[in-house]
Amino acid sequence: MARKIIVIGGGVIGTSIAWHLAKAEAGDITLVERDKLGAGTTWHSAGNITWMANSDRSIRAAFDTLDEVAKEAEQETGWLRTGRLYLARTAQSLAWMEGQAPLAEAAGFESRLIEPRDAVALNPLIDPDVLVGTWLNGASGRVNPADLTAAYARAARRRGVTIREDCAAKAVRVEGGKTTGLATNDGDLSADLVIVACGLWSRRLLAPLDITLAQWGCEHFYIIQRTDPPLPRTMPSFVSPDDSIYGREEVSGLLFGCFDTDALTLELDNGAPPDGFAFSLLDENWDQFGPYGERAVRLFPGLQDAPVHRFVNGPETFTPDGEPLLGPLAEIDGLYVATAFNSGGVTYSAYAGQLMADLITGSAPGFDPAPCDPHRFGDKAADEAWLRGKVAGTPAGHYHARHT
Ligand SMILES: Cc1cc2nc3c(=O)[nH]c(=O)nc-3n(C[C@H](O)[C@H](O)[C@H](O)COP(=O)(O)OP(=O)(O)OC[C@H]3O[C@@H](n4cnc5c(N)ncnc54)[C@H](O)[C@@H]3O)c2cc1C
Repeated sequence: MARKIIVIGGGVIGTSIAWHLAKAEAGDITLVERDKLGAGTTWHSAGNITWMANSDRSIRAAFDTLDEVAKEAEQETGWLRTGRLYLARTAQSLAWMEGQAPLAEAAGFESRLIEPRDAVALNPLIDPDVLVGTWLNGASGRVNPADLTAAYARAARRRGVTIREDCAAKAVRVEGGKTTGLATNDGDLSADLVIVACGLWSRRLLAPLDITLAQWGCEHFYIIQRTDPPLPRTMPSFVSPDDSIYGREEVSGLLFGCFDTDALTLELDNGAPPDGFAFSLLDENWDQFGPYGERAVRLFPGLQDAPVHRFVNGPETFTPDGEPLLGPLAEIDGLYVATAFNSGGVTYSAYAGQLMADLITGSAPGFDPAPCDPHRFGDKAADEAWLRGKVAGTPAGHYHARHT
């Protein structure tokens, strides 16, 4: 008889896992989502998918998957390959870009070092006088996270996955050290395997089982400003490593956010908003955003007086080392976790789905599972002060470790 598998959480990670498990014919699969698909962090994600040489395979998984899932689901994901323009204000950043350019080219992507005055043709907001160089990485692009989630879900349904919205997991049922099912607000479900893909809320859900995940939520934000001139959808996204800011076109204006050097950890139970938090945001935090806004104006002087269309302060969950928590939980047989994607969950959804399917079916993993081992922080995961202190540095630290 087919194994019964339950995936908890209908964000971009849970839906990807459900589809990948169905493709791998891993069992009889049900996904439960307590609200509607995408209601957690996924709906307000900026949706950038950024290729870097040091994460080539995991990002390539995204590129391949975007095409495959859109075709199988017959559903657009909003995937648009715009390329990404790296802006260097310092010789150090320029040297790094000069090192990356041949790697991107060798990987088969467009890659051009461009003089700042010529980069204005790609992004009319740039002040070329503050830059020492730019690099166009042609591989990167953007997706609509809600559409991608819907596509994963639709493709999963077509392969027989049952998706139950408005179905909240209350407790994982365990007998004799083995997973036996799930208690929900809509009755009990039996299961041989349960995968917790609840994003921010994963730590709280597992706490009653004496499992403490090393993840904590932080404020994570971007703003959208109307610009003059209006920007084309096809404009390359940008990143300025010297300023810790990134962005892209959105509704003909500029969306830009930051890799915060001192992120604000959430003063909330297990680092997560209350359970009713769905399609919701945190309060605007202009004090925290201020320095990054000033840096953006230095790069793009026209932003100084540009009206703000929206401030999106969404919670996202981080780990101390910027790698997710993904794999089996040693404490209980048949219990798995896939959470804490450190502001990269849309990008890494394909990687997460593939890796989880490999682990569950016992196939040789296509990716090395060791960096994501949910147990790698040991008892420290229970030390809230330590965890929050570390996690506050993850958005910027991890970004710089990967990108510079
Ligand atoms: C401002 C911002 C910008 C970002 N930009 C990018 C970007 O450019 N590129 C990128 O790759 N990533 C980006 N991210 C990160 C990305 O959005 C997240 O990593 C990703 O959405 C996480 O997906 P998830 O499925 O793990 O979590 P979620 O989307 O939060 O999904 C978890 C789901 O579980 C459900 N759930 C929780 N508890 C229960 C329960 N008890 N029972 C049933 N269901 C439950 C929730 O309702 C939710 O729908 C950004 C994030 C933020 C905040």
